[in-house]
Amino acid sequence: MSDFERFKEIQKKQKAYALVLGVTNWDSHTEAPKECFPYRSEMLSIISGESFSLSTSEEYKTLVNDLMNQREELNDYQRKEIEKAKKNLDKIDKIPKSEYIEYVRLQTMAQRVWEEAREEEDFNKFKPYLEKLISYQKKMVAYRSDTDTPYNVLLDDFEEGMDMEKYDAFFTTIKEDLVPFVKEVLAKKPKETPAFIHKSYPVENQRKFVEYLLDVFHYNLDRGLLKESVHPFTWNTHSKDVRLTVRYLKDYVFSSIFAAIHELGHALYEQQVDEMFDMTNLKSGASMGIHESQSRFYENILGRSKAFWEVHFPKLKTMFPDQLKDVTLEDFYKGINWVDETFIRVEADELTYPLHILLRYELERAIFNDGLSVEDLPAMWNDKIKSYLNIDVDKPSNGILQDVHWSGGMFGYFPTYALGSAYAAQIYYTMIEDIDFEALIKANKIDKINTWLKEKIHCFGSSLKPEEILVKVTGEAFDPSYYIRYLKEKYSKLYLE
Ligand code: MG
Repeated sequence: MSDFERFKEIQKKQKAYALVLGVTNWDSHTEAPKECFPYRSEMLSIISGESFSLSTSEEYKTLVNDLMNQREELNDYQRKEIEKAKKNLDKIDKIPKSEYIEYVRLQTMAQRVWEEAREEEDFNKFKPYLEKLISYQKKMVAYRSDTDTPYNVLLDDFEEGMDMEKYDAFFTTIKEDLVPFVKEVLAKKPKETPAFIHKSYPVENQRKFVEYLLDVFHYNLDRGLLKESVHPFTWNTHSKDVRLTVRYLKDYVFSSIFAAIHELGHALYEQQVDEMFDMTNLKSGASMGIHESQSRFYENILGRSKAFWEVHFPKLKTMFPDQLKDVTLEDFYKGINWVDETFIRVEADELTYPLHILLRYELERAIFNDGLSVEDLPAMWNDKIKSYLNIDVDKPSNGILQDVHWSGGMFGYFPTYALGSAYAAQIYYTMIEDIDFEALIKANKIDKINTWLKEKIHCFGSSLKPEEILVKVTGEAFDPSYYIRYLKEKYSKLYLE
């Protein structure tokens, strides 16, 4: 057996563990009875332990390192598999095991304390944990790299190829070009939110409408499954098992509709990855940013377009005749693109959303690059949201304590959300030169749009890097001006004309 064949054999075993862990995790979030968890977590920790030992065994490490040295003898895809395996190995291999275990324990504790602190509106309770998480991250980066800019390592972990220089250029564009535009829109928008948005919409019919959407988007149910969970998510093992969840809120029908379309974006991507990658580590999307570009493309560019609702609003109206009785298509289109100055990132509209990310990027950058102390974080948060959206934070749960990410030690993650939207806009402007996007939506032929994305992006899985995909599709490196152009075109028409 060659080294590569042996590597594949070990990888297959890792995939078997991942399948068991993944399906069980899916079940934990969707259907598992609440008393099952103590037993379940004990059994799962045994399997995770086995999987970890396999990924850090001497045999596996030797194989990956040897294959890395002989990679010129491998074919293109094999070489990419080895490079990816090597990168993943280096992430865990250089950190002393005892410290890693300590860190996992800290994460678990920090998450629980964050929940309590948020509940009690008490930042000081969470503060020592946040300080520890940050110093741990700095230490772990130091094990892996001798960089003097640790934030760059974290940024690259979540989006390969991105660093502060590139993100600075992106967020400067947002700050200089978008922030003034958002202020103009906010000053001119009507004061009253349309009443139909928060009427009561029976969950049973919301569910039917979401099932209708699965069909409209040509999601393949022979390779997928829809369930409910508290936070919507998409999960997959390979291209033939790609599942998604939604949540139904009685008083906010947009939540289920747009979360469904967002998750469908993630799911269609995974279903359309070429099946030749199923048994490799090149299956699944290229990166966080590219994945989010697809979910946000479907949710915002397609799903919040007027063309889309020209076709599907009549159907929605038949399902909610009372709630939407006097609502015109124009009212509805404005309603689904309602702009508002809000505290909470996850509830923000498409236009103000990047400002929430800009704020987080600036804070993380200051923490890891300029030594900003945790002590000064809340005040800095509040100042920034005031300057970007002109609102005064009234309590920590509306400010510094709102997101789960930092309590899980995830720094460098947030920027990929805004990056995804920006990638989506750049891809969109290429797409409309190639196919008649609006006409296809109006003809209810979203499968043709899916096919375009499949051929240009999805089929490659993660065999291409984010930047390689963007250049291949659009002919250009990442250019944030497309994003600004898209937002200005859309929201000028909605609010300034
Ligand atoms: Mg997403």
